[in-house]
Amino acid sequence: MFIEENIRLINKRISEAALSVERDPKEISLIAVTKGASMPEILEALNHGVAHVGESRVDQFVKKYDQIDKDIHRHMIGSLQTNKVRSIIDKVEMIHSIDRISLVKEVNKRAKRMDKKIPALIQVNVSEEATKSGILKKDLISFVEEIRNYPYLSIKGLMTIAPLTENDDIIRSCFRELKHLFEDLKMRDMDHIQMKYLSMGMSNDFEIAIEEGANMVRVGRAIFKRDAF
Ligand SMILES: *Cc1c(COP(=O)(O)O)cnc(C)c1O
Repeated sequence: MFIEENIRLINKRISEAALSVERDPKEISLIAVTKGASMPEILEALNHGVAHVGESRVDQFVKKYDQIDKDIHRHMIGSLQTNKVRSIIDKVEMIHSIDRISLVKEVNKRAKRMDKKIPALIQVNVSEEATKSGILKKDLISFVEEIRNYPYLSIKGLMTIAPLTENDDIIRSCFRELKHLFEDLKMRDMDHIQMKYLSMGMSNDFEIAIEEGANMVRVGRAIFKRDAF
């Protein structure tokens, strides 16, 4: 029951955040992050309108998502080791965590073997924390240029994780910067990439992310935790 209620409240908050900046709530996809959730909990979320799921670990991705309906959209959102790409390549709908050229090469190689392009987002380390993965802002354009050589990876947008802080201004400026990078890439009109999805915002900050332009929010604890609100 609490999962149903959590989802109802999150959808309401997504709508309110979107409307507050005159956006259409339907533009925004809620990705239910299933790390830490059990299979019955995931199935309950899917029964209550969740259409997108995301995992940060490959073993969990494979184990859990083999048991869910084919129509559910599956996202890989966590750091991806090159040697694990093989396990998910035929199952993943979008990879949010493209953060280095060796990963680009591996995804391209595996996707080519299947003769299928894999949609993906570039993870940007906007806050430049040493512990965080992602491309640094200053390296983004050259990274995008390099990706041109790997046509089976289909870049569709950007992703970031905000710094862990209570300070909403710091979080907001992180999201705003990613949105700027997104618009900048869009304006350059590079024919091998598309700037369509902006994946930012988690349980603590998805409303700020929506106000700053996110159209994919990745929410875990606020869905799967009892007394999340
Ligand atoms: C865990 C995780 C989330 C969800 O975080 P919550 O705080 O549980 O909402 C989102 N994105 C990534 C990359 C994650 O690893």
